[in-house]
Amino acid sequence: METTHPSFEVLQKDVVDEYGAYCTLYRHKRSGAELLSVANEDDNKVFGITFRTPPSDSTGVPHILEHSVLCGSRKYKTKDPFVQLLQGSLQTFLNAFTYPDRTCYVVASQNTKDFYNLINVYTDAVFYPRAVSDPNVHAQEGWHYELENPEDELTYKGVVYNEMKGVYSSPDSLLTRECQRSLFPDTTYGVDSGGDPRVIPNLSFEQFREFHQKFYHPANSRIYFAGDDDVIKRLEIMDEYLNDFEDNHSRSESMIQWQQKKFTEPKHEKHPYPVSANGTDGEAPPSTHMMCVNWLLNDKPLTSKEEIVITILDHLLMGTSSSTLRKALIESNLGEAITGGGLSDELLQATFSVGLKGVKGSDKVKEVEQLIYSTLERVANEGFTDDAIAASMNTIEFQLREFNTGSFPKGLAFMLGSMSKWLYDNSPTEALKFEEPLADLKKDIAANGSQVFKDAINTFLLQNTHRSIVEMLPSETFEEELLKEEKQRLASVKANLKQEEILKIIESTSMLKELQAAEDLPEAMATIPKLHLGDLKREVTEYPIEVISPSENDFGVTIVKHELVSTSGIAYVDFGVDLSLLDLETEVPLLPLFSKLMKEAGAGEYDDVALSRRIGTYTGGIDLSLLSSVLHPEGVDQSECLSGDHMMTKLFFRGKATSDKTGELFSIMKLMLTEPRLDSQSKALEMLRESKARLEANIVGAGHQYVNTRLRSRYDPAGYIQEKMGGISYLNTVKQLLQQAEEDWPTLLKRLETIRVKILDESTCRNGIVLNLTGDEHVFSAIDPYIKSFLMDLPGAAKGKQLQNFYMDVHPWIAQAKEHMKSQQVIDEGFVVPTQVSYVGKAGKLYEVGEKISGSSAVVSRYLKTGYLWDYVRVIGGAYGGFCTFSPDVGYFSYLSYRDPNLSKTIDVYDNASSELIKSAEDLAQNPEALETAIIGAVGDMDSALGPDQKGWISLQRWLSGETPEQRQKWRDEVLATTAEDFKEFAQRLEAMKQCSTAAVVSSKSAFETASKEGKQMKLVEVL
Ligand SMILES: [Zn+2]
Repeated sequence: METTHPSFEVLQKDVVDEYGAYCTLYRHKRSGAELLSVANEDDNKVFGITFRTPPSDSTGVPHILEHSVLCGSRKYKTKDPFVQLLQGSLQTFLNAFTYPDRTCYVVASQNTKDFYNLINVYTDAVFYPRAVSDPNVHAQEGWHYELENPEDELTYKGVVYNEMKGVYSSPDSLLTRECQRSLFPDTTYGVDSGGDPRVIPNLSFEQFREFHQKFYHPANSRIYFAGDDDVIKRLEIMDEYLNDFEDNHSRSESMIQWQQKKFTEPKHEKHPYPVSANGTDGEAPPSTHMMCVNWLLNDKPLTSKEEIVITILDHLLMGTSSSTLRKALIESNLGEAITGGGLSDELLQATFSVGLKGVKGSDKVKEVEQLIYSTLERVANEGFTDDAIAASMNTIEFQLREFNTGSFPKGLAFMLGSMSKWLYDNSPTEALKFEEPLADLKKDIAANGSQVFKDAINTFLLQNTHRSIVEMLPSETFEEELLKEEKQRLASVKANLKQEEILKIIESTSMLKELQAAEDLPEAMATIPKLHLGDLKREVTEYPIEVISPSENDFGVTIVKHELVSTSGIAYVDFGVDLSLLDLETEVPLLPLFSKLMKEAGAGEYDDVALSRRIGTYTGGIDLSLLSSVLHPEGVDQSECLSGDHMMTKLFFRGKATSDKTGELFSIMKLMLTEPRLDSQSKALEMLRESKARLEANIVGAGHQYVNTRLRSRYDPAGYIQEKMGGISYLNTVKQLLQQAEEDWPTLLKRLETIRVKILDESTCRNGIVLNLTGDEHVFSAIDPYIKSFLMDLPGAAKGKQLQNFYMDVHPWIAQAKEHMKSQQVIDEGFVVPTQVSYVGKAGKLYEVGEKISGSSAVVSRYLKTGYLWDYVRVIGGAYGGFCTFSPDVGYFSYLSYRDPNLSKTIDVYDNASSELIKSAEDLAQNPEALETAIIGAVGDMDSALGPDQKGWISLQRWLSGETPEQRQKWRDEVLATTAEDFKEFAQRLEAMKQCSTAAVVSSKSAFETASKEGKQMKLVEVL
C-alpha cells in the first residue's frame, strides 16, 4: 500500500529485508526537501532532520548553531525549549550532533502525542530560530567578552567555547584532530567543525546568521521518520513547515568536495600536547610521545563489495586484541596503548588510522611506523588463515543481523546508517543492505582464499601514498602558553577599547546575566506543548522472570530465565560466579586485571589468538563484568534508606549466540572460568600499561566520573569498593601492579592464582553461581540440552555448602571497607592534572539509614538538574555540563560539573541550591502545570526503551537486589503523586547536608591556586 500526499512526489520505494523496513523516499515538490519514511513495528518512534553544513574555517560555526537553534523559535518562545523538553517529555532520545559535514537533530519517543510535540518544536527551531535575530544566543552558546568592572581582566565565555577548551585539553582528541586535518588539506574535512578555541572568537554574529541562512533550508535537508506511527501524518506535519519555502540552490552549494589523493610521499607532522610540568609526587614528568599513521582510502565512491571487504579487513587487523595489527603493536612494547582505531567510514571518504601512545621518543616512533608497514607487508604476502577469516566474518555478520543498539533507538541507528549514503545524494537504503555483498564476498573467499584481503591491503594501504604520520610531542608549557596567549589577546583587545566600549561590555555582561537568570514569562511557557499526567502509563513495566533456586535443581546453582516474545533466534547468556570469599585489600583491586586475563589471554589448550577466534566464529561475543549490587535485607521496609551492609558481588561472563551455537558458547565460558591462562607475564604487562594509559586519558577527559566515585567512597562502603577498582586511587594500584609484574612476576601470578582458586572453591562455588538466560520460546526449547550438560560439567559439588546469606549477613568486603573508611579523613580534595577546564563535585548523604525515601526524590533531584543546575552551571557559568546524581538506595547525593571554566564559583552555586529550591517549592505550589512537567520528565526516565538482552539483565538485577514489584509500583505511584511540599522537604535536606558535605575537584594547578585565594582550600594531590 502506498501512502501519498499531494505536496510530495515518491522518488523511490524499497524494502530493506534485512531489517523488515518498508522505506519510501519522498520529495516535497515546493521546497525540494527529501523525506525518508520507514514504516516498521518499532514503538520507539524516531524523527530526524539533517542539514549538510560544511564549514570553511575552524570557528565552530556549525557546532555553535547546533546549540543555538534550540534556544527558542517563532512558535516556541521560551529561552530554551530544549530544556523544557528535557524537563517534561517522555523522550527516549533528544539531541543534536555536529559532524564534520552535517548537523543532525533527532528526537524519539514511545508516546505518539509526545512524539508529535517533539517534532514540532525541533522543526520550528531549525527553520525559525530566535538565534538569528537575537545576538545574545550566539554570545551565550558561542562566545562573548565578559567584564564586570572596568579594572578587571577581560575574559571569554560561552558554552561551546568551553566545551572545546575541554576537547583541546585532551591529548587523545588533539591527536585525532591533527590526524584528520593532515589528510584533508583541500576540503572541509581539514577544518574543525566543532571549533578551535583559538579561532572561535573570530566568528561574528553576522557570519553566524549567514551560515544559518545558507544551509538551514529544506532543499538542503534530509528528513527522516521511523516507527509504528501513521505515515500520512508524517507528511502532513512536515508539509505545514516546508510549504513556506521555495526550492533553492542550497543543496548544490553544500556539496562536499572530494579530497584528491595527491601526496606523492607520506607526510610527517609533529605537534605538541600538554603534560604536567611537575610530574606525579616528584617523579620525573612522563615524556612519552603519541603517534598515528593515517591513510585516505578513496577519492571516488567505493563499491558495496569494497565496503564490506574493508570492514572485514579492519576487523582482521584491528577488531580484537588478537587481531594481526593490534596484536603486533601491543606486543612490541613500543608503547602503552593503541591510537587511531582503524577504519572510519561515516563521511564521504573513508580513512584508516592506527598507532601507539606512550612511545618513548621519536626514534621509537619511527620503529612503530616501520612495524605497522612490516606487519601489513607480511599479511599482504601471506594472507590470513581460514579460521581468522571465519571468525571476523561471523563477528561482523552477527553484528549486522542482531542490530543491537542498546538503549540507542534502533530507528536512529538506521538513520545514521542510511545517512552515510544519502547525505552524498545516493540511495538512502543502499548502505543498509548487507546480504548481497556478504554473499558475494563469501563466494570470492571460497574460490580465492584471502586474496581479496591481500589485494585490499596493497591497494588501500601499502601502495597508497596519501598517508600522514602524526607525532605528538609532550610539552610542559603547552597549557601555560595557551593561557598566556589567550590572556595577551584579551589584554590587547582591552587596551584598544575606548572607555565607552568598555562600559558597553560591562553593560552587555550584566544584561546577558540578567537575561539568563530571568524566568520565562508564563505566556512564553504556555507555547511549549505539554503532556498531562493522564497521558502517562501508571503501571510499572515488569519483564518476565522465572527463578529456579539451587535446591530446586540437580546442579545446585541458581537459574533465572526470561522468556520474551522474540529475540530473533539469539540466546543471551549471563553466567556469574560469586566473589565474596576474596579479600578486599589484597585481591579485589586485582579483579580488573584478573578478568581481562580471563577474557583475552587464552584458556586451556587455546592461546589468546585461538580463543579469540573460537569466540568470533561461534558466538556474538563474550564480555566479563563485575556486578556489585546493594541488597534489600530481609525484613526491612523497602522504602528505607539502606546501610549498604548487604551486598552481592559477582563476576559475570556475558555472551550471546544463535541458539544452534549456544552449546559452543557454554563450553567456551566454562573453559574461560576453569582454565584461564593467567601465567602470561607479557600479557599482564600489556594490559596494565593499557589500563594506565586509559585511566590517565579518562581522568582528563571525563573527570566528573572520577570525582563522583571519589566523593561516594567517603560516604558509602560500596562506593569505597568501587573506587578501589576503578577510581582515581586505582591509578596508583595499576602503577604498583605494573611494577610488581615487571620486577616480581611470580608473586603477582600467585596472587592471581589465589583468586581463581577461591572463586572455584569446591564446596561453595555452585551455591554462588547464577545462570541468567534470555530468549524466546524457540530459543529456550533449542538450548535446553546445552544448559543441562553445561551445568552438569561445572566445577564444585552440586550438594556443597551454602554461601553466607547476604540478605541477612553483612558482606565481608563491607565490614573491611567500613574499617578503612573510619580511619580516612573526610576532607575536600583537589586532583591536579594538565587541563584548561575543571570538573567540580560536592556530595554527601541526604538521608540517614532507616529514613523513608519516597519516589518524589527522583522528581526533585531531576528538577534540580534540568533547572537550577543547568541554568547556573551551564548557561550562566559557561560549563559544558552541570548536574546532580541521587542514589535512592543509600541516600547519597552529589553535584557535578563537566568541562567547567569555574571552580569556586561553581561550589557557591551548589551551596545556593537549597535556598533556590525552597523558592521553587513556593512557586510550584502556585503552578500545578510546572509541577506536572517535572513529574512527567521523571516518569520518562523510568520508561526507557530496552533491547532484549537489557530486559533480561535488568530483570536479573532487580531480582538479585531483593526489590519487590510492589516496591517498584509504590515508587512510581509516589513519583506521580509528588507535591510542592516534597520539594520543600528535599530542599531542607540539601540545606542540612551542606554542613557535612565535601568537595572533590579535578583541575589544573593554576585553577586550584586561584580557588585557594577565593577561600576554597583543598588538599591537593598531583595525579598527572
Ligand atoms: Zn556541543
